[in-house]
Amino acid sequence: MTTLHDCRALDAQDPLRSLRSLFTIDQGLIYLDGNSLGVMPAATPARVAKAVTEEWGQGLIRSWNSAGWFTLPQRAGDKIARIVGAQPEEVVATDSTSVNLYKVLHAALAIAAARDGSRKVVVSERTNFPTDLYIAQGLCKERGLTLRLVDADEISSALQSDVAVLMLTHVNYRTGAMHDMKAITSAAHAAGILTVWDLAHSAGAVPVDLHEADADFAIGCGYKYLNGGPGAPAFAWVHPRHVDSFEQPLSGWWGHAAPFEFTPGYRPASGISRYLCGTQPILSMTALDCGLDTLLAAEPMGGMAALRTKSLALTDLFIKLVEERCAGHGLSLVTPRDHAHRGSQVCISREDGAFAIVQALIARGVIGDYRAADTASGIKGDILRFGFTPLYIGYEDTWHAVEHLRQVLVEREWERPEFNQRNAVT
Ligand SMILES: *Cc1c(COP(=O)(O)O)cnc(C)c1O
Repeated sequence: MTTLHDCRALDAQDPLRSLRSLFTIDQGLIYLDGNSLGVMPAATPARVAKAVTEEWGQGLIRSWNSAGWFTLPQRAGDKIARIVGAQPEEVVATDSTSVNLYKVLHAALAIAAARDGSRKVVVSERTNFPTDLYIAQGLCKERGLTLRLVDADEISSALQSDVAVLMLTHVNYRTGAMHDMKAITSAAHAAGILTVWDLAHSAGAVPVDLHEADADFAIGCGYKYLNGGPGAPAFAWVHPRHVDSFEQPLSGWWGHAAPFEFTPGYRPASGISRYLCGTQPILSMTALDCGLDTLLAAEPMGGMAALRTKSLALTDLFIKLVEERCAGHGLSLVTPRDHAHRGSQVCISREDGAFAIVQALIARGVIGDYRAADTASGIKGDILRFGFTPLYIGYEDTWHAVEHLRQVLVEREWERPEFNQRNAVT
C-alpha cells in the first residue's frame, strides 16, 4: 500500500518541484484539468498588464514594431518548435486549433490531389475530437471527398490506395491513449498517404518529435498544456518539404509576402508565415508567450523528457491509488497502462454517476472533468477525466485527489441532487 507519507517523500525528491511556484493555484485546490484549460502562470497578469498599459496604452501603433507585436506569432512559434521537435521558423502561433486544422488539411488535400487525383478519401479515428471531424466533414463536402472513420486498431488496414490524407489526434482527448506517431506516419507514407497530426493533448504534455516522425502537417492548442489562457492562439507546423508548395486557403494579408506594400494581388510569404491569415490577438498572444516561457523554464531541468518522467510517475501513482483505495466501486481504467500508449491524463469509466462524481469532487476542490459515454468507442459508461500537468501537480496532490474520490464513493455523495444538475460546459 502506498501511503501519504510515501507521496510526500516523492515530492521532496522531485527535481521539478520548484516549477509549481511559477503558477498561481489557490491553496488547497487540486487542479487535474490542465488538459482542458491550463493554470495561469504567476507572471501572466503583469505581462498582459504591461502589454495593455505600456505597449497599447502608451506605445499605441508604434508597438507593432517597438514591442515586436508584428513578429509575435513567429517568436512564440519558435518556442513551440522547441517542444515538438521542429526547427526555428517552422511553427507559427495563430488562430484556433479548428481554423489551423482547416488550413493544413486543405493544404494536405491539395498536395495529395496534385500528386494523384484518384485518392478521394480522408481517414480519421471515430473517437477523434469532434471539431476535427467537423472540419474534415466540411472540407470533404467542399472537395467532393469522403471521410472514412475507423477505430484505432483499424488504422493500419485503412491505409488503402484511395486514401489521400490520414488525420489523427496524437493523444485521444477522451481516453488519454497515445498513438505511435512515427510508426503510423511511416506506414502512411509507404502507402502514399500524407499525415496531419493534432497535438492538442501532446504539445507540452508528452515529448513530440515531428521531424523524427517525419510528419507532414501538425497543429495544436495553446490553452491546454501550454497554459496560454482561455481561447489562446493555437499553432501550425508544416514540414519544410511542403511549406512552400501550396497556398493555404485563408489567404489573408498577414500571410502575404509583403503585407505593407498593399498590392492588390496575393503573393504568399515563403515559409510557415503564409499560414497566418489576418491581424493577431496580441493580448492573447502575449499571454500564450508567457505560458510558453513558463513551460520552457523546465528546460534546464531536463525539459520535456523530465516532465514526461514525472507525468508517467504521477499517472502510474494515480492508477495504483485508485485501484488500491477505490476498489469495489465500479470504476474501470480506460487509459492504457502501457507507457508507450499513454498521454498525460487518466480516464476512468463508471456505468452511472460519472458526471455527479466529478461535480462532488469539484465541490471538494478537486477539479477534473467529465465526458459522456461514446457508444462508438466501445467504452462502457461515462468517463471521469483527470489531467496531470507535471509542471504544477505533485505526488501529495495525487494522493489527496484519490482520497477525495474514495470519500465521494464511500459516502455516496454523488447521489445528492445538487451534483446532478448540468451546466452548458462540462
Ligand atoms: C481542445 C481540442 C481542440 C480545440 O479546438 P478549438 O478550435 O480551440 O476549439 C481541437 N482538437 C482537439 C483534438 C482538441 O483536444
